[in-house]
Amino acid sequence: MALPLTAAHRRYIVIAVTTVLIVSYFMSASKNKPSPSLGNMIPQISPPPHKANTTLVILARNTDLSGVISSVEQLEAKFNRKFSYPWVFLNDEPFSTDFKRRVSVLTNANVSFGLIPREHWVQPDWIDEGRAQEGRNKLVRHGVIYGSSVSYRNMCRFNSGFFFRHELLTPYKWYWRVEPDVRYYCDLDYDPFVFMKDHTKVYGFTISMPGKFSSLMVNDAHSVWSNFEIADMDFWRSEAYTKFFEHLDNTGGFYYERWGDAPVHSIAAALFTRKDQIHFFKDIGYKHAEFAHCPQGKQWREGHCSCDPNDNFDFAQNSCLRHLMRLDD
Ligand code: GDP
Ligand code: MN
Repeated sequence: MALPLTAAHRRYIVIAVTTVLIVSYFMSASKNKPSPSLGNMIPQISPPPHKANTTLVILARNTDLSGVISSVEQLEAKFNRKFSYPWVFLNDEPFSTDFKRRVSVLTNANVSFGLIPREHWVQPDWIDEGRAQEGRNKLVRHGVIYGSSVSYRNMCRFNSGFFFRHELLTPYKWYWRVEPDVRYYCDLDYDPFVFMKDHTKVYGFTISMPGKFSSLMVNDAHSVWSNFEIADMDFWRSEAYTKFFEHLDNTGGFYYERWGDAPVHSIAAALFTRKDQIHFFKDIGYKHAEFAHCPQGKQWREGHCSCDPNDNFDFAQNSCLRHLMRLDD
């Protein structure tokens, strides 16, 4: 015999069922995604907002993969893990799928891979190839490194006059130039781009040495080493630099001789910036080939630097730092 359900009973059942449904809905939902309201601190690893319009840039070949991985891994660990600035990789040939896969996995930051337009890379048609060949032979006879290489000349010309015009770089103002197989020794806890901006700097370096320009008026230029650069691309895009580069380029010296982008950048910085716009990044430990800059004293300790403070090119015989430091006075 069924009990007759009064209206009050029915209301009670509806409320009870609804309550059970609501409670079980929230319990299952909280199993799927942890609810911050349960008192657990869920660490939010969202990248900090970018403080400067900046990119980290590497020019490389597919064969440079292991050196690229090594450099990116270090700069990520020492600096970019905290700042998440986007990376741009450039190549005169398409990057391989393997290259892109191995490099992209190293960072949470945005990564893009660009192909350099042919007209920004290859030896221009108007270069007299006979004369260029003679020039290469001459450098080989003199034992000059990369004396016979046309691709090295393409690279130096590209880094002097074209990289900052690449479509992947035009959105940015600041860049940090990185090369395969370099070393970054110290933690960098502040944003060097914000520093550059706040102090109206244009060009930052760590290592300097003489550069030769045999057919220009300059014989021995005090040169910063351009494989490390933290700089403002708007400087290279300026009318003064554009004209300066075009003038150099029109002489054919990138091919008839073998002008490097380091002395080109250095001479331009000397001509078109105020001395206080050049910055020596004393606190960034860095090594390219056998030349190192290792911070000293307090900066070495506070940066947890892994370099030997005695392995430091700053005041070695060939270093230009002594001369460049005088600019600071
Ligand atoms: P060095 O530092 O003067 O001894 O010259 P590197 O061999 O290190 O070259 C300077 C930079 O240009 C490095 O980032 C190289 O990976 C890159 N590079 C040099 N030659 C080429 C090339 O033919 N193609 C590409 N895509 N990159 C190059
Ligand atoms: Mn190099």
